[in-house]
Amino acid sequence: MPNWRYFTERELACRHTGICKMDPAFMSRLIALREAVGKPLIITSGYRDPSHPLEAKKPRGGSHAMGRAVDIAATHGFALDIIRKALALGFTGYGIAGTYIHLDDVPEGGVPVRPALWTYGA
Ligand SMILES: [Zn+2]
Repeated sequence: MPNWRYFTERELACRHTGICKMDPAFMSRLIALREAVGKPLIITSGYRDPSHPLEAKKPRGGSHAMGRAVDIAATHGFALDIIRKALALGFTGYGIAGTYIHLDDVPEGGVPVRPALWTYGA
């Protein structure tokens, strides 16, 4: 069992398969973010197996399938605080949704292209 301090394997595991293959370097960054923010981070999506419905429709696995992404429940000031701290910690992917923030640390020069910021259109 990994020691992720503030996070459990259960909350980061794929909601479709129960498999959890989070990248260790990403988890170190996420733990640093949790400490910088100073409040619990509610994970709504962590690892996604390539067979997860959201991944299976992509031509290749995205950042969640790489174990290098989370979606964190947050809005308004809390969302902005998370983004400010995440920028300082070197996260490279920022997805802004109505009720959550997607963060990943996919390396620059790879696929998907980073750095990047996007919104989730209606
Ligand atoms: Zn996401």
